[in-house]
Amino acid sequence: METVEILTKNKFETMEIGEKISKFLFPNSVILLTGDLGAGKTTFTQGVANGLGIKEKIISPTFNILKCYFNDKLNLYHIDAYRLENNNLDIGLDEFIDGDGTCLIEWPNYIKSLLPSECLEVKIINIGEDSRKLIISANSEKYSGIVDFLIKGE
Ligand code: ADP
Ligand code: MG
Repeated sequence: METVEILTKNKFETMEIGEKISKFLFPNSVILLTGDLGAGKTTFTQGVANGLGIKEKIISPTFNILKCYFNDKLNLYHIDAYRLENNNLDIGLDEFIDGDGTCLIEWPNYIKSLLPSECLEVKIINIGEDSRKLIISANSEKYSGIVDFLIKGE
């Protein structure tokens, strides 16, 4: 398991990390976003979307569970499992998690049975005001290059 910790001082710095890693994402990749409400999971997703060239604003999909952003470079599927809480998991999310795009998942713990074994995890901790700690870890070689890149910086 390869891990890097990054401190951000405002939402733009968090978006910038998402933007940076977007160029390493590939079809069928999965990013788990963990952290409390308001930590910055959707903000991070906005950064990834910006990096992929997606023009739409990423809105929290809490009431939709899934939002799809179709895009030339790479489709982005954004899941927020908060409302699912392990109920009705048989609603076809697996097609997007194991799909042709990159899938970012907020509250992944609520859909554990649907998660792949290999993924990148981004854990965001609110450390006060506009400061956040991002703990980014790769549990497989497919994602360790992203962590290496962040460790080396540029
Ligand atoms: P989540 O999806 O985790 O519930 P959001 O991304 O929707 O969180 O909201 C994060 C909130 O925290 C936004 O209002 C954002 O402007 C604010 N914020 C303040 N500082 C940061 C930071 N360093 N990184 C990310 N968001 C931040
Ligand atoms: Mg959110």
